[in-house]
Amino acid sequence: MYPAQFDYFRPTTVDEAVKLLVQHGDEAKVLAGGHSLIPAMKLRLARPKAIVDIGRIANLSYVRETSGGIAVGAMTTHAEIAASALLGERCPLLPETARHIGDMQVRNKGTIGGSLAHADPAADWPAAVLALEAELEIAGPRGRRTVRADQFFVDLFQTAIGPDEILCEIRVTRTPKSVAYEKTEQKASGFALVGIAVVVDGRGARVGVTGLAAKAYRASRVEQALATDRSLTPERIARAAAHAADGVEPLSDIHASASFRAHLAEVNTRRALTRALGLA
Ligand SMILES: Cc1cc2nc3c(=O)[nH]c(=O)nc-3n(C[C@H](O)[C@H](O)[C@H](O)COP(=O)(O)OP(=O)(O)OC[C@H]3O[C@@H](n4cnc5c(N)ncnc54)[C@H](O)[C@@H]3O)c2cc1C
Repeated sequence: MYPAQFDYFRPTTVDEAVKLLVQHGDEAKVLAGGHSLIPAMKLRLARPKAIVDIGRIANLSYVRETSGGIAVGAMTTHAEIAASALLGERCPLLPETARHIGDMQVRNKGTIGGSLAHADPAADWPAAVLALEAELEIAGPRGRRTVRADQFFVDLFQTAIGPDEILCEIRVTRTPKSVAYEKTEQKASGFALVGIAVVVDGRGARVGVTGLAAKAYRASRVEQALATDRSLTPERIARAAAHAADGVEPLSDIHASASFRAHLAEVNTRRALTRALGLA
């Protein structure tokens, strides 16, 4: 099926792209890798009148070391992140998560920024950026602003990005050790039924959950349980993991019931913590 008719714009700078979004208002959509937007347009679930293709903007695709950590450009593809030696050394949770996404075609075209902006409840990146306490830089008509990952996901397919704004950069601190991503995927697409990203360091454990609820979240009850249990034996990890679905309403669909998703959250949290702590 063909998408409805639209005007196509190919800006070469972020400022130019933002101006186009301001000019076309709610009728415009940013195009990144197109692996979520184009299928939605073909199904006529989305009918933007103007497409602002940010694929030709220089300097939106990179992985760089900074004084504070590592910066990843929004147009960096899943495959580039999976293959990044810098990330492999300094923040291996990102390449590990990237390798779980879809298939090679999806990873070669889809971008981290597009996935985060889309905020599909079954997407993989949200769990990782939550566990890493990433910062997301957004450009708009009033300049640039930074949003913390735990304030970025608002609801199903809704984020803190405004209609006239563009996600430009994802920033993480160096987190070289004690990380893991454990996922149970929908077999045909690879999307997460439940995915759990874990970071454990001197400050404690941070657990990001995707797939379970309408929006990705931090499993704060698991984190609290681990904070009170200082010596982390397999039994204590299992007790903490039992809180992974506390306080959320699990999604239920043809792929998995609410109770099965809650069960997967517990199992994958236990597995991710066990592996991150080197107890596997
Ligand atoms: C067959 C298939 C399997 C898949 N499997 C998985 C999987 O296992 N796990 C997973 O996580 N994902 C999966 N995906 C989704 C894939 O990762 C997409 O690439 C991703 O969701 C969207 O990224 P994109 O760059 O293609 O964005 P696009 O499709 O171009 O855009 C998506 C949305 O985000 C907006 N947008 C894009 N970039 C920006 C930006 N920088 N600033 C503001 N708004 C922006 C667009 O306007 C649009 O609304 C799959 C997709 C397909 C087709």
